[in-house]
Amino acid sequence: MNSEHKEEPSALHLEIERLKHNLKIISMMNKINLIVLLSTFITIYTLEIVSVLQFASPLYPYSLSLVVISIYLYLLDIKKFAVTEKNYKRLKVLIYFYPAFFLNLAALLPIMNHYFYNPILLYSLIIFSYCPFLISKSKEIVPSLCISAVILFIGLMNQDGNQYLYYLQGIYLLALISIAGLVSRSIYHAYIRAQKFHLEMGQEVYQLKRLTELLNEANRQLQQEANLDPLTNLYNRRAYNNYIIELQKRLIKSTHTISVIMVDVDCFKLYNDTYGHSKGDNVLRTIGSLLHDVSVEYSCFAARFGGEEFVLIVSNEPEDVVQKICYQIQQSVYELHIQHESSTIDTVVTVSIGACTKLIEDINEINECISEADAALYFVKQNGRNSFEYKNKMHV
Ligand code: GH3
Ligand code: MG
Ligand code: MG
Repeated sequence: MNSEHKEEPSALHLEIERLKHNLKIISMMNKINLIVLLSTFITIYTLEIVSVLQFASPLYPYSLSLVVISIYLYLLDIKKFAVTEKNYKRLKVLIYFYPAFFLNLAALLPIMNHYFYNPILLYSLIIFSYCPFLISKSKEIVPSLCISAVILFIGLMNQDGNQYLYYLQGIYLLALISIAGLVSRSIYHAYIRAQKFHLEMGQEVYQLKRLTELLNEANRQLQQEANLDPLTNLYNRRAYNNYIIELQKRLIKSTHTISVIMVDVDCFKLYNDTYGHSKGDNVLRTIGSLLHDVSVEYSCFAARFGGEEFVLIVSNEPEDVVQKICYQIQQSVYELHIQHESSTIDTVVTVSIGACTKLIEDINEINECISEADAALYFVKQNGRNSFEYKNKMHV
């Protein structure tokens, strides 16, 4: 069932492509026919009017109608027809009318006149102007070849000449249509092979593109996972280090005001001891999620610095905003009301925060800012915890 579904569109695709190719060829043939017939007509007409030559072509009345037909075909410009899934069968009939029409016309000409030109030569020319160029199945071209060859063979009967020559012409016609049929057949198969190869290549390129996209996506996810802390889903220490390097690169181009906020959970060892490591993990997860929300709200960077310690880096924010962030974190953690019986500070989990804002003119000043924030945190730890200490080093 599935394989049928896969094959059908590609077979249809091949058929439509073949018709498009044939339309182009026929359009080109129309133009060539028009040029040949027009020049023939002009030549004959010129010879007719130069009465001195006393040239009376029996083809003269027919040549005019052939020119009219060619102009009509040219104006019709078959190439412009859009081949769709709906109309391709009708177009196929139209396309096979063309070689059939010209072959039979060439075959009929000897009946009308056989003195002015060599009918076999003309017929051979028409055959080889279509058969090697049109991509046709045998069943599409062979009937036209056979019928026109029979008509021509009958037409040649009128020709003056001996019986021997007539049969020789018959053998020639038989050989000619056999060769034309074989050429047409091998061209059709070569075309189908090439198209299938083309289609397969296209599918492989598509698969390759798809795989590359999947690989890129997997890489992106891997990269993201490598930078995330699995417990809190915040950025990890590695991402923090990279962020600092990126920040240093940016600071080479322009000066920035950087604020570093260090957050440390108070008496966390005691929490683990009282409630177990797993409950401790839950606390870190909850605080991590809270800090993530803060980082989104203030468009700043937040990472787990290590253990129960977190860091936020805020760019180009004034003192009051940084203080507001510190206060917000401290209060929000408190308001989580996570019970902590063994805490020496309160009955719930609390955090201590140290922050520093600095105008960074030299890349080493980032590390200084981090050290100042760390020192501020240490200060809070020494002075009762559950609070924040902020240092403004903008004007130092
Ligand atoms: P302070 O108020 O001075 O910060 O005291 P503290 O107990 O929080 O600090 P301390 O450095 O003495 O202990 C940190 C504790 O954090 C010790 C360790 O068991 C715990 N910890 C570190 N990482 C994790 C973790 O991933 N999960 C859990 N549950 N606990 C952790
Ligand atoms: Mg701690
Ligand atoms: Mg700590």
